[in-house]
Amino acid sequence: MALQRPKGTQDHLPDGSSGSHSRTNRSDTRAEAFAQVVETARRVLTRGGARLIQTPIFEEADLVKRGVGGSTDIVRKEMFTVHYFGDHGGFILRPEGTAGIVRAYLENGLKQWPSPLKLWTHGPMFRAENVQKGRLRQFHQVDYEVIGAADALVDAEAIELMVQVVQALGLKGARVKLGSIGDPADRGHYNDYLRETFTPHTERLSDDSKDRLDRNPMRILDSKSQGDQTLISELGVKPMLDFLGEAAAAHFAQVRGYLDTWGVEYDLDPSIVRGLDYYRRTAWELHHEGVGAKSALGGGGRYDGLAAELGGPETPAVGWAFGIERILIALDAEGVQLPEQAGPLVFVAALDPEHTGLAAQVALQARQVAHAEFAYRALKPGNVFKEAERRGAIYAALIGSDEAASQNVTLKHLQTGEQRRVAINDLNAFLLEHP
Ligand code: AMP
Repeated sequence: MALQRPKGTQDHLPDGSSGSHSRTNRSDTRAEAFAQVVETARRVLTRGGARLIQTPIFEEADLVKRGVGGSTDIVRKEMFTVHYFGDHGGFILRPEGTAGIVRAYLENGLKQWPSPLKLWTHGPMFRAENVQKGRLRQFHQVDYEVIGAADALVDAEAIELMVQVVQALGLKGARVKLGSIGDPADRGHYNDYLRETFTPHTERLSDDSKDRLDRNPMRILDSKSQGDQTLISELGVKPMLDFLGEAAAAHFAQVRGYLDTWGVEYDLDPSIVRGLDYYRRTAWELHHEGVGAKSALGGGGRYDGLAAELGGPETPAVGWAFGIERILIALDAEGVQLPEQAGPLVFVAALDPEHTGLAAQVALQARQVAHAEFAYRALKPGNVFKEAERRGAIYAALIGSDEAASQNVTLKHLQTGEQRRVAINDLNAFLLEHP
């Protein structure tokens, strides 16, 4: 059998590549649809003042570990390490975009730029996860990060922009679930409360959660174990929101106030948690029925402590990321069709071998104004029309000896069947007027 791609990766295929113009294998990603998600994000985020940044796909292991937190599942079991001959073994394929962006911000002195600095990026991320629908080992994110401001207005704008991007794609059913995880002291109180609450029931917790009880009790709350979730509801565990200090509560009220005024819809989710110390205050997820209740389209939050964690000065920041593959799944579930790549406006072919060069030259000339293709070999007229239709062309242009002698093409509109002679010199003008 021919070699296959690694588990958990996808090929992004051109339109029509499953043998017809409709896809037959639903696990494929359409490269064109994918590009349109990125393009839409670019348009919306650029209008919002964000600048494109690209950082390496692999980074120092230390950066990744600090960025996603040493105690998270990602660092404990989901990282791809990068080895090369004579390697010190210290590189990791990035599992998310934020740590690299904050590193680049600090390393390149982007602090000198107008503040806050809005950055966006898109690209592949890597996690050695259990593969299932919507859970890949190489997936792709669009990321937006605002570095340098602590104002609630920045959080609200970030959420609004995330909603704008998915709405601009035509997605209707995405819902923001919004919460706050408070300041570090608030979280300290909450973790104390969680330890007190769970410790008498330790034997009922899953092994992972037993582990978390000491290190990171908040993570128990988003455990995937059914037993853990049953225990949480039996115990009536209070949400983080009940533990917000005065400053964090005021910040959260402001964020909600802006969103309410702007008409950005969200559901309050008192149970949103984040396991890492550098996260502060606002946290949210973007959900959609099409990708299932347990997995999100995207997530975001404030991470004021990250820059210092990476060795830089205290720098407030907030950001979000969504998974492009999951957006495509949600669009599919809603039946939203992103436009397919259009075929050529004109397909040019010679009817005999001595004119194939001229046919090509006519197509090359037509490319100054439109998408034009040509046949590499001479074709019979019937086959010219067939080939032109297979490519989704609007016009077929034929060049036989008559046309070559008079420097004309015979141009046929494939849908109406209307046919005319057009001088090669006038072809571009004609195509511009009759696209
Ligand atoms: P996270 O960095 O874990 O908050 O993930 C942000 C978003 O990236 C998620 O909401 C997903 O849309 C996407 N994502 C994360 N992990 C995966 C994965 N393994 N496969 C596909 N998409 C993912």
